[in-house]
Amino acid sequence: MSNTVDPQARSLPSVSDRHIDPHAYPNGIAFLDGQYLPMSQAKISVLDWGFLHSDATYDTVHVWDGRFFRLDLHLDRFFGGLEKLRMTIPFDRDGVAEILHSCVALSGHRAAYVEMLCTRGASPTFSRDPRQAINRFMAFAVPFGSVANADQLQRGLRVAISDKVRISPASIDPAIKNYHWLDLVRGLYDAYDRGAETALILDFNGNVAEGPGFNVFCVKDGKLSTPAIGVLPGITRRTVFDLCAEVGLTAIAADVSVAALRTADEVFITSTAGGIMPVTEIDGAPVADGKVGPITSRLMALYWEKHDDPAWSSPVRYA
Ligand code: PLP
Repeated sequence: MSNTVDPQARSLPSVSDRHIDPHAYPNGIAFLDGQYLPMSQAKISVLDWGFLHSDATYDTVHVWDGRFFRLDLHLDRFFGGLEKLRMTIPFDRDGVAEILHSCVALSGHRAAYVEMLCTRGASPTFSRDPRQAINRFMAFAVPFGSVANADQLQRGLRVAISDKVRISPASIDPAIKNYHWLDLVRGLYDAYDRGAETALILDFNGNVAEGPGFNVFCVKDGKLSTPAIGVLPGITRRTVFDLCAEVGLTAIAADVSVAALRTADEVFITSTAGGIMPVTEIDGAPVADGKVGPITSRLMALYWEKHDDPAWSSPVRYA
């Protein structure tokens, strides 16, 4: 199947500059300040509070084989974040959905990573009062990307547990999807220093929290658990709960200690960027026998099966 469609052939909003540089990666389309633009031209002011203070919220949904996966849940989380941050945008849910459809359609991508975001914006007078800032909504569609590459998906990721602590939920409500990633990025460098491919960091009690862009699950004696507090309530995490309910597996949100993770039968991570991804090595030691476990494999297969099920996915309006 072709991975692109011809946007010229359809009646879509126009892209302000139709010259898309094929060498500019990632190739995609952004919506910014009321216009559709090639990604390489989507730029914001350095005075935007989103940049200066990480004062922003966002959500990322993916398109697989021309279909959005669980778009409604992503819109719910995005609008929830806007409300908690007291940001307003000139679009309702349908308006945002329409823009996301157009970004994907104009990009031609059939497998895409689609982000909607809102920054506090900038105040016309450079006031320090956030109420004076004009909130800025943006969206974009670029090629689908995964936390794990094809090799890692097959053999499982090598993860290190860093001693860095995820920003406390008392400081930032983790349900507001945000760009506060300094803890996660420092954790990643710890992981690289130790020869691992990615990191998990801790919650304020020393239990496992999450990683850069993903939640984590462990399986012990056929039961699944995932950290309950101080983590983004991921849509893929929620999908794992839904899949478990469908097939009769027990899954709970609870504290997951470092020891529990190290002695688990199976470990996997979850993200819109890649779905359910196995972990087979933690801090240089194999998880159980070091092979991708049967529950992980079963859930991975089920997850991808749901991508063409109308109860879980909806077609992109390419025309
Ligand atoms: N945790 C963090 C910090 C994230 O940034 C993400 C996704 O970007 C996730 C977890 C996974 O969430 P989702 O499954 O909704 O992609």
